Amino acid sequence: MTILVTGGCGYIGSHTCVQLIKQGFDTIILDNLYNSKEIVLERIYQITGKRPQFYQGDIRDKHLLNNIFKENKVTNVIHFAGLKAVEESIKQPLKYYDVNIYGSINLLEAMKAANVKKFIFSSSATVYGTQPNIPYIETMETEEPTQPYGRSKLFIEKILQDLAKAEKDWSITLLRYFNPVGAHPSGLIGEDPQGIPNNLMPYITQVAIGKLKSLAVFGHDYNTIDGTCIRDFIHVMDLADGHLAALNYNSSHSGVNIFNLGSGQGSSILEVISTFEQVFKKKLAYHFAPRRAGDLPAYWANADKAKKLLNWQTHLNLYDMVHDSWNWQSKNPNGFNE
Ligand code: NAD
Ligand code: UDP
Repeated sequence: MTILVTGGCGYIGSHTCVQLIKQGFDTIILDNLYNSKEIVLERIYQITGKRPQFYQGDIRDKHLLNNIFKENKVTNVIHFAGLKAVEESIKQPLKYYDVNIYGSINLLEAMKAANVKKFIFSSSATVYGTQPNIPYIETMETEEPTQPYGRSKLFIEKILQDLAKAEKDWSITLLRYFNPVGAHPSGLIGEDPQGIPNNLMPYITQVAIGKLKSLAVFGHDYNTIDGTCIRDFIHVMDLADGHLAALNYNSSHSGVNIFNLGSGQGSSILEVISTFEQVFKKKLAYHFAPRRAGDLPAYWANADKAKKLLNWQTHLNLYDMVHDSWNWQSKNPNGFNE
């Protein structure tokens, strides 16, 4: 099988490519390097002994997409490419809809023209909206997110459902990720946010490495075990393996299939900090700050469906997640900028 991985130089895509290559899949990456670096390919080579074929380009470039499908016998597409910063999406909605929605439609059109109809999409728990019934399960209705990034994910899910309804020969898997953290255990690839991180784990590791002064814990008056928010953190290696399991399932199941990819367990922000301190063997500088607008108090996945149908579940725990995040950060203080 030959897998086209859009956004394969990014955080989740690069870890998935490593696992694909290890399993013997021919892997082709399409990435415009908007939020990643070409050196990722070298690191994938160092880990796997193989360099994926690489096209530097944009998912909105129809001509390029048609060429990729002409030049290669692509059998499946895993679609990670897109923009993912919630705050930026509020300020620049057109940019987000253009890349995420138009880019996805363009990719699907090129697939259709090439008669490649097996598609795995990176969706997000954000499509459950703000519903209070926890854990989130795939049978729940979705709820329109309040920001353009989340909306773009929900709209693409709906577009894919319409497509599968109209054309019965598509096999489409929607993977709803919870909170991906961690890095490859080698420390050769990991999350490399540009500028000041928005997400918890890279913020913690950048405080620990001395780039940032103190972590602001957003809210400690929530109705949770210790007053801080609860999230379902999932190690990026487990998440990557979830894509391989989905690829297998997708080969023999048509229509749209939806899976939560989470651990099925919530951890509070203070638990993450104390686990980090065990790994770091020092105290982490943090302070309590007001709640962040839009944050939900607590949610985690019901991950039973993936366990039952994909035969997939997480194996790595919170300790592994913070250990590998710190391993990556401490070996690469400036990320991929050497
Ligand atoms: P990332 O930014 O690290 O990776 C995305 C990759 O896509 C980058 O390498 C970027 O250069 C590339 N890209 C962006 N626009 C492109 C375009 N127009 N054409 C070609 N390539 C383009 O993000 P990630 O964390 O690896 O996320 C991967 C996917 O998973 C995204 O679709 C994201 O929305 C989704 N997701 C991520 C999270 C998370 O917390 N990281 C959670 C849920 C869903
Ligand atoms: N968080 C925090 N300080 C930070 C970043 C995040 O306290 O600097 C908290 C945030 O309030 C949320 C959790 O960590 O409860 C996870 O946030 P993140 O942005 O990583 O992911 P989200 O759950 O928003 O997708």
